[in-house]
Amino acid sequence: MRNLVGDHRWLSLNTATVRKQGSLLEIIEACARHSVRAIDPWRDQVAAVGLDRTAKAVKDAGLELSGYCRGGMLTADTEHRREALDDNRRAIDEAQALGAPCLVLVVGGLPQYSRPGSTPSKDIWDAQREVEDAIASLLDYARQARMPLAIEPLHPMFAADRACVSTTRQALDICDRLDPEKSGAVGVALDVYHVWWDFELREQIKRAGKKRLHAFHVCDWLVPTTDMLNDRGMMGDGVIDIPRIRDAVEAQGFAGYVEVEIFSNRWWERPMDEVIRTCIERLHSVV
Ligand code: ZN
Repeated sequence: MRNLVGDHRWLSLNTATVRKQGSLLEIIEACARHSVRAIDPWRDQVAAVGLDRTAKAVKDAGLELSGYCRGGMLTADTEHRREALDDNRRAIDEAQALGAPCLVLVVGGLPQYSRPGSTPSKDIWDAQREVEDAIASLLDYARQARMPLAIEPLHPMFAADRACVSTTRQALDICDRLDPEKSGAVGVALDVYHVWWDFELREQIKRAGKKRLHAFHVCDWLVPTTDMLNDRGMMGDGVIDIPRIRDAVEAQGFAGYVEVEIFSNRWWERPMDEVIRTCIERLHSVV
């Protein structure tokens, strides 16, 4: 496992972590101030600044990307299906323009939440099948753009509204079926918040292997968690044994960025520099 003590060259900041404190350009400036070398920006933040301007700011600051957040929301009724696929092709184009190593997919839950306006459904199994069909139909486009797709399994509490792919095994089953040669064109983004509880996690990380481990996101699980979406913990403040999971991921040869992604009403209230400083300290001490 890489030694991160006293060195944060492998830290990436998911820009949602400080999204309430400033624009993407301000976040990029703050990263430069703190010698953070990589970010994972969100599409809405990029859209607010403009794609070309973002690409230039990233380049001027000497930053790399650890991913692009996010594609997905692939479940839709017939009327909204084309919109979902077109939207994801645009996300692939943007990820490519920004030099991202992968497009993170939050695959979507039931169609009415994934693509509002879709006919309501309770058929979660149908949604799961649809996710796979949609990724299958995006794969050629992603391959041509040389943009790996990274399925992010989300904790099952998000199955209805965000992602009906809930475990690493489920994500890798899709990868196996769509990309049997395991080229990495479709792989996984592992976020400790979503997968830490999974008794199969270690064997599934092995199964993924280096080629399909596209991103590694860290934060912590607070007890109690008071808001399932926006009460993620700072690393070290909760119960996840992060080094153990990082060890399993890096044992497969993963050598990418450790991306801090914290959606937190508490941390959004603190100054941006304090949040980034704390991320760096915790990277050294508990990640
Ligand atoms: Zn994540």
